[in-house]
Amino acid sequence: MESSEKRIEIIRKLVGRWVDTPKHRDGSILGSMTTTPDPLAVFAYNLFIHTNLADPVIFRTLKVFEEEVFNGLRGIYGLFDSGLVTVGGSESNFLAILSAYRSNRDGAKTVLAPDTVHVSIDKACEVLSLKLIKIPTGNKPVDPSVIEEYVKKHKPLAMVITAGTTEMGLVDPVEEVSKIAYETETYLHVDAAYGGLLIPFLRRRGYIDRDLRFYEGVSSITVDFHKNGLAPIPSSTLLFKREEDRKNVFFINEYSLSGYTYGILGTRPGGSVAAIWAVWSLYGEEGFERLAVNVMDNAMYLYHRLSEIRGLHVYKPYLPIVVFKHAEISYIDLLESLMKKGFYLYKSPSVNALRIVVMPHISKEHIDRFVNTLEELVH
Ligand SMILES: *Cc1c(COP(=O)(O)O)cnc(C)c1O
Repeated sequence: MESSEKRIEIIRKLVGRWVDTPKHRDGSILGSMTTTPDPLAVFAYNLFIHTNLADPVIFRTLKVFEEEVFNGLRGIYGLFDSGLVTVGGSESNFLAILSAYRSNRDGAKTVLAPDTVHVSIDKACEVLSLKLIKIPTGNKPVDPSVIEEYVKKHKPLAMVITAGTTEMGLVDPVEEVSKIAYETETYLHVDAAYGGLLIPFLRRRGYIDRDLRFYEGVSSITVDFHKNGLAPIPSSTLLFKREEDRKNVFFINEYSLSGYTYGILGTRPGGSVAAIWAVWSLYGEEGFERLAVNVMDNAMYLYHRLSEIRGLHVYKPYLPIVVFKHAEISYIDLLESLMKKGFYLYKSPSVNALRIVVMPHISKEHIDRFVNTLEELVH
């Protein structure tokens, strides 16, 4: 063991750098989809930090956690066979494409998606040497009749739609597109990395008119738990309607006790499964509904406050993502000025605007402080 003096010295340096690192609770992180994880989830993660999800034989408990979480999620999304815990929406999306690719017997080499699709799908297609055909949408949810035309013309091996787009928080019409997928027997993946723990609740409460569930024709859904699920990074899930599609991302791994592995990773954080189970047990449907309503109410508050600023164009949020731009100041310049004042926003380049994702850590006080600073900047 290294000496305790050396450890204490390192702790000092760690804390020094931690102090200099922005934190969600100080209201400076406004653009990112990350948030402060729930302390119970952090405890669960740390308790199981030694476990490897790639070894379900030694770490059997992890399977129990998984099953209990998936059981709970069936109450939200309807019946589905099984799922996987992954390290993020990007991995979940990659595995969905991989599954569709490996199950495809017609030799198709294209994937179809609206142009609002997340970059992780571009990555997946590039890695698998597939062509991603993007449907122009003009930053609106995709039109089902247009997607139908494209499917019939290109016969893709999969289509991907998004329930909560990264730049604007748009929700593609899952139910309508699922019918097309069902009729054309096309694999349909729904990327709900961001919106998965918001949409079903906001729909129930009448905030929005679109729902997210395993409609007939939906093959898989990505839901991140390290965004609105309050689990620590890295925590995501990929839910499969059919067990055989899950099996399609497995690889033989002779040396391991189970004899298989899935996805690209070898060793996998078992702590993530324990953390997801902990937040699920703590919040459940009711708790997540409360969280969803809270972020949406705060997003509407932010929307109204920003709308009062002269020269600002603010897009009405569908999910708790508020996008805005100034008539005269470029959004890049505005981004830089805000950063100098200690506010970190993200961009919505497709509409030359800035974006705030109202996450659970953002309070009305944070919003007021931000709006006041912005007002001073643009006056
Ligand atoms: C966040 C997000 C992703 C990527 O998820 P990571 O967890 O960052 O890998 C993919 N799709 C959508 C719609 C997202 O919001």
